[in-house]
Parts: sequence; structure tokens; C-alpha cells
Amino acid sequence: MSFVIPPAPSAAVPVLGGGQFPVHRIYCVGRNYAEHAREMGESDREPPFFFMKPADAVVPVGEEQTGEIAYPSLTQNLHHEVELVVAIGLGGRDIAAADAAAHVYGHAVGLDMTRRDLQAQMKKAGRPWSIAKGFDQSAPIGPIVPRAATAGAMTAGAITLAVNEVPRQRGDLRELIWGVAETIAHLSRAWTLQPGDLIFTGTPAGVGAVVRGDLLHARIEGLPDLRVRVR
Ligand code: MN
Repeated sequence: MSFVIPPAPSAAVPVLGGGQFPVHRIYCVGRNYAEHAREMGESDREPPFFFMKPADAVVPVGEEQTGEIAYPSLTQNLHHEVELVVAIGLGGRDIAAADAAAHVYGHAVGLDMTRRDLQAQMKKAGRPWSIAKGFDQSAPIGPIVPRAATAGAMTAGAITLAVNEVPRQRGDLRELIWGVAETIAHLSRAWTLQPGDLIFTGTPAGVGAVVRGDLLHARIEGLPDLRVRVR
């Protein structure tokens, strides 16, 4: 094939123990913890809904490393959202929740960075969230841990985020309204999941703003920590 301009390099995330996971698409679940739904002024039980980020919004951060993101343009209110990320290894459509585990390659800690002020404006106007959610470097992510190394599905465990080591977000994966298996079932009815897809599964309560110079420290029990500096 002769490309008329250089093709974009594939986005990739390091896998713990070696190798790279090539990123195909990034799906995100909205309001998937009841307390966070309430802090956003919404009801705490509704069918799952989804939005996307471009694959090249990932900022891969290796184990024991501190990543860096630039404070984005057009916002005065950049928010952190710590999330469990599911990496799809086996694609499919209409996947039953009972079969979902077989489609999961592994898990990672991710940050769904959000221009909250723009999101509020877009919501109010009934417009798409892309500018609030899908901007450059909006998806920092730690190393992916293969499923075999985390004793299978991640259905419980503390999920926390600190800014400059001051606790901000705290929850437990048990509190997910739509668990990983149900999320995969729902998503795969709307899109054909492909190997390389990432799913950001939603954030617990305690979201808030960061400023230049802040250090974000995101943790999920059983996965390597994710550290990111805003510059
Ligand atoms: Mn989110």
C-alpha cells in the first residue's frame, strides 16, 4: 500500500512483564458509581451510556514512572477521574455477560481527564461531549496487567486518587453500577468490540480540579499505581 501521507503510528500501552498492547478504540462509561452520579447532580440508576476518546489520547506511563500531561487549552476547570480500564484481547458482538471474561486481556489504572467547564456547557446545550472528554492527552494509563496475573476478573478492591498525596477520590470496584461483564455485554450490542479496545469503566466520587504542577497518584488494589504530573 502506498500512503499519500505518512500513516499515524499506532497508540500502544506497555504490558507488565513485557510487550505492548496496541490501542484500537477507547470507550468510556459515564456515571458508573452511584455517589459520583449524585455529585454530578444525576440519578444513581440508569442504563449505562458511553462516550469515546481517540486512541491517540492515551498517555502510556510505565511502572514506577511518572508521566506528564500538558494542561489543556480552553478550560479553567480540568478534572481528574480515576478509573479501572479493561483491555479487550478478543473481539466480538452481542457478548453475553457470562462470556465476557474470556474477551478481557487485562486491566490497568487510567485517568479520564475532563474539561469539566466545557462538559457542563455542552450538557446544558445538549451538544456532544467530545471537546470535554476526547482532547489530546486526556487518557493517561498505567501498565496493563494480564488477566492471568490478577486472578481473573477485577470485581472488588479499593480505587483511589490523591493530588499531591492529599486524598481526593475513594471508592471500591464493588460499587460499580454496571460491572465489567455487564459493561462488555452492553457495549458489544452497540459496537463490534475489537482486540485492542480499551474501556474506561467510570469513576467514584470525589472528582475535582487540578492545576499546573500537581501530581496525580491513582491507585487500584492489585494493579501498578499510576502517577502523572500536570505541566
Ligand atoms: Mn469518566
